[in-house]
Amino acid sequence: MSRFEVLILGNSSATPMYGRHPTSQVVNFNERLFLIDCGEGTQMQLFRYGIRSNRINHIFISHLHGDHYLGLVGLLSSQHLMGRTSDLHLFGPTPLKEIIDLQFKYSDTQLRYNLVFHPTNPKLAEVILELPMLKVTSFPLQHRVDCTGFRFDEGKRSAPLNVQKVEQLNIPAPYLKLLKKGVDYVADDGTVYQAADLTFPAPCSRSYAFCSDTKMWDGYLKPIQNVSLLYHEATFLADMEDRATQTFHSTALQAAQVANKVKAGQLLIGHYSARYKDLQPFLLEAKPVFNNTILSEQGKWFLV
Ligand SMILES: [Zn+2]
Ligand SMILES: [Zn+2]
Repeated sequence: MSRFEVLILGNSSATPMYGRHPTSQVVNFNERLFLIDCGEGTQMQLFRYGIRSNRINHIFISHLHGDHYLGLVGLLSSQHLMGRTSDLHLFGPTPLKEIIDLQFKYSDTQLRYNLVFHPTNPKLAEVILELPMLKVTSFPLQHRVDCTGFRFDEGKRSAPLNVQKVEQLNIPAPYLKLLKKGVDYVADDGTVYQAADLTFPAPCSRSYAFCSDTKMWDGYLKPIQNVSLLYHEATFLADMEDRATQTFHSTALQAAQVANKVKAGQLLIGHYSARYKDLQPFLLEAKPVFNNTILSEQGKWFLV
């Protein structure tokens, strides 16, 4: 089975505290690496956890609050200094392009590689990237500035062969791959063998959704429906709900309610406020509502 997992590089909200870095994550899909958000210090975190940054060809930035992108220009600059030549695709809010251009203009830097900028749409869900077996969608969140989440969907997985049946029928090897994809086999005598009879049901396709900074809001429930692993911010605990609403953030309880509503497989929470040293209360609050909740921890990979 191909690899599909998420490495947490940072799980802190605005002010880094208790060794927690601001938001950044690496998604590994079948050995392709994707970076989501790039808070200050992301380069150091990549190095710390043994990720070679030149393996990243796609970067997704949710919004332009510093804790989600202040590490980006440094990372782009290092790629230049390290002699990168392959294209780097950057997805983010429209003004991000201007910010980057300005930084490089005044440092008189002409990047050696092609930085391809793709503006995200803060109003509508949109497919922003399609690769073999993987589709990435951005969708609007509700925050103080334009902000999008990202959803990674695995393509249709192939069905495992029923080896016993296939061998009994002596089906030629070149057709086996097609059977796994659901194509029926027609023998020389015209007999049709249904793919469904010669394979086991294909495993469900996996999906990961990243809900960056947001107030709990119905508008993003549809795009994250039935996701296998849901990352949702949980900046505060429920006793700070008023503060969460004012600042367009969520509580651990709200994150759990969202996971419940969208029938997520598992909930991963993060973006903890600097006011909390101990994170166990987040779990205690979320689990009664959504039992399959886990705390994001820096340096840890989470299976999708
Ligand atoms: Zn933030
Ligand atoms: Zn924010």
